[in-house]
Amino acid sequence: MEDSVKIALPESEIPRAWYNVAADLPEPLPPVLHPGTGQPIGPQDLAPLFPMALIAQEVSTERDVEIPDEVRDIYRQWRPTPLYRARRLEQALDTPARIYYKYEGLSPAGSHKPNTAVAQAWYNKQEGVSRITTETGAGQWGSALSMAGAFLGIEIEVFMVRVSFDQKPYRRAMMEGFGARCVASPSSETNAGRAILAEHPDSTGSLGIAISEAVERAAGRDDTKYALGSVLNHVLLHQTVAGLEAKTQLEIAGDYPDVIVGCTGGGSNFAGIAFPFLGEKLRDGRNLRCVAVEPAACPTLTRGKYAYDFGDTSHLTPLVKMHTLGSTFVPPGFHAGGLRYHGMAPLISHLAQLDLLEARNYQQLECFAAGLQFARCEGIVPAPEANHAVKGAIDEALRCKEEGTSQTILFNLCGHGHFDMQAYIDYLGGKLVDQEYDESELAMALSGLPSVAAG
Ligand SMILES: *Cc1c(COP(=O)(O)O)cnc(C)c1O
Repeated sequence: MEDSVKIALPESEIPRAWYNVAADLPEPLPPVLHPGTGQPIGPQDLAPLFPMALIAQEVSTERDVEIPDEVRDIYRQWRPTPLYRARRLEQALDTPARIYYKYEGLSPAGSHKPNTAVAQAWYNKQEGVSRITTETGAGQWGSALSMAGAFLGIEIEVFMVRVSFDQKPYRRAMMEGFGARCVASPSSETNAGRAILAEHPDSTGSLGIAISEAVERAAGRDDTKYALGSVLNHVLLHQTVAGLEAKTQLEIAGDYPDVIVGCTGGGSNFAGIAFPFLGEKLRDGRNLRCVAVEPAACPTLTRGKYAYDFGDTSHLTPLVKMHTLGSTFVPPGFHAGGLRYHGMAPLISHLAQLDLLEARNYQQLECFAAGLQFARCEGIVPAPEANHAVKGAIDEALRCKEEGTSQTILFNLCGHGHFDMQAYIDYLGGKLVDQEYDESELAMALSGLPSVAAG
């Protein structure tokens, strides 16, 4: 298999358990706090929003968490996903590095999101939930959960960030096609949305606002729970199915990564590809770098504060310790809508704090250029979010060329860009510009961090 381009696995090789990195952390995660009391919350505090099985996964320190048979059965439609060796890209870069990518764009919804959408919908179904509310940025998560809802007979309501709602009508049509209801956020349907609209009638929205709307809706109804597409421990857990498969595939190729690269919005696809390998580093001292790549216009890990903050703009969620730009920060409307979250997964933030992963940021133009270089070599047009990972992997390959070292680079190609062609039209038409966030707005958002952050 030394000269493979595509390393495919049979269905029988779909992992039977997800990998929980909490089992191998050198220091445990800081607790999640109740915003009123400042004390650690218990499972009952989260029960209005999530089914108990997912709350249990959220706090679990068990290393292997069994994947239910029915979830695994649904996974079989697109899993295992192939691992590709990017041979033409290596040639184009004239690098001694070996570049592999795990292609999660082969799921029916076109990204890694169904890995957790199907699992979350299934656990909700088990506990009798008939309706799930959620938010979506670029529309990837909304369409993945809508698909899972259609499979399992659960009603889905999606609050979609206004800028994406306007930029991506096809994503909305896909959600509605699956039978979901899709509302532009901020909306006039919730207190949270109405409060934002009163102050900023032309708000382009943010994930933080859309989360407030979805949480408010779920908290108000007994038959309704809430689902999040990233950030939370159980979401990152479900995504490890990709990294576990990649480990088997690289074994077949007789290789092992020196560097793992992923883009980070809330951190789930990066965690999915990196954690199973990072676990080996933590347990066996494997030598391995993990590189998280984020947009310069929403630089959570590279410019944010590591502090307790709310997950949403209207402060309906508990406080979690994470890298944050402040819960009221609204990033500019750049095209990688899935990377516009003000916070970062607590697990990713904690690992960054422990120097177990590196973070860097790139501007959008250099990411689109990298994405098209990749497309010309490999034939896949990446999602704008995934372009950040492509750019990171290319830079690592160029570093290897400069150093004359033949390292192995693995990255997560977390989605295709077939619903994002307007972004490419704008890029090719010279209309896309690099966007800076507003420094004064960032300073204001950070100064509004809850007071527990000072402790
Ligand atoms: C949602 C999404 C992201 C960002 O979310 P993570 O949780 O950081 O993975 C990145 N890429 C694609 C294609 C997405 O759909």
